Amino acid sequence: RLNNELIELKGNIRVFCRCRPLSTDEVTRGCSSIVEIEPLCETELQFLPSEKEWKAFRFDHVFGPEDSQEAVFAETVPVVRSVMDGYNVCIFAYGQTGTGKTFTMEGVPENRGVNYRALEELFRMSEERSTSVAYTFSVSILELYNEQINDLLDETSKKLEIKQTSDGTQDVPGLVDAPISTIDGVWEKLKVGAKNRSVGSTNANELSSRSHSFVRVTVRSEHLVTGQQSKSYMWLVDLAGSERNSKLTHLLQNSLGGDCKTLMFVQISPSSSDAGETLNSLKYASRVR
Ligand code: ADP
Ligand code: MG
Repeated sequence: RLNNELIELKGNIRVFCRCRPLSTDEVTRGCSSIVEIEPLCETELQFLPSEKEWKAFRFDHVFGPEDSQEAVFAETVPVVRSVMDGYNVCIFAYGQTGTGKTFTMEGVPENRGVNYRALEELFRMSEERSTSVAYTFSVSILELYNEQINDLLDETSKKLEIKQTSDGTQDVPGLVDAPISTIDGVWEKLKVGAKNRSVGSTNANELSSRSHSFVRVTVRSEHLVTGQQSKSYMWLVDLAGSERNSKLTHLLQNSLGGDCKTLMFVQISPSSSDAGETLNSLKYASRVR
């Protein structure tokens, strides 16, 4: 199970917890919020399924229903920046279906998430450093669904497989790696990826609950004076719903090991009706570090 595999990771990992608002449907059904975050405490939340059972959980940061996409990104940006210094980075969202994994990573057009904001920051930094370093960027977008890898930027739907490379890392030969040079270009690619993710499914929610989606940004740099070159990856991952028996891919596992800087968002629901899954996610995520 994904849970057990992740616990064994020894990488450099930070864990943020994000609790979405209670939905209008939950309010209508008479559900109440069983998650509390002290206004001045940014690292702890209380889980209160009942008066007697309450329990505190600590994370590197806790975001509540009121916290904006901007506030979330403000805490995320340091790890994003490190890809520009040659570190591999992996940012991923974990949690039950409907808790906001896609909202955090993709966001919605009028309220964009980590993926878009991260790329915006890379372009900004590239501009800022342009007198000393030349950066080039490219992006691949793939999905793992039913044990099959789909290239979401490829219309030909050829079969793809994960291959071990000579330096011990994994690669997906044939994957489209689209050069990107402007933030508008990125937005176009992200939209194509999001659209292709739901193609062929009669129920978008059903599909996203069982598919892992990966955005891989390749950052290449060349120092203008020393000529030193480097290549690093930033993986932005929206995992399948944690309530299903999902398997962490080799691709992600590789990224999470060693020198990779990893940020995990554990997404939770505040609703009394989700108490069981929320407790599972909280317990699991608090053991990851
Ligand atoms: P998941 O990807 O985990 O299945 P979604 O991202 O699709 O969940 O979120 C489920 C619903 O809740 C969506 O309608 C989404 O817009 C909404 N939502 C999630 N998180 C938030 C949030 N922090 N603020 C407002 N709405 C949210
Ligand atoms: Mg989703």
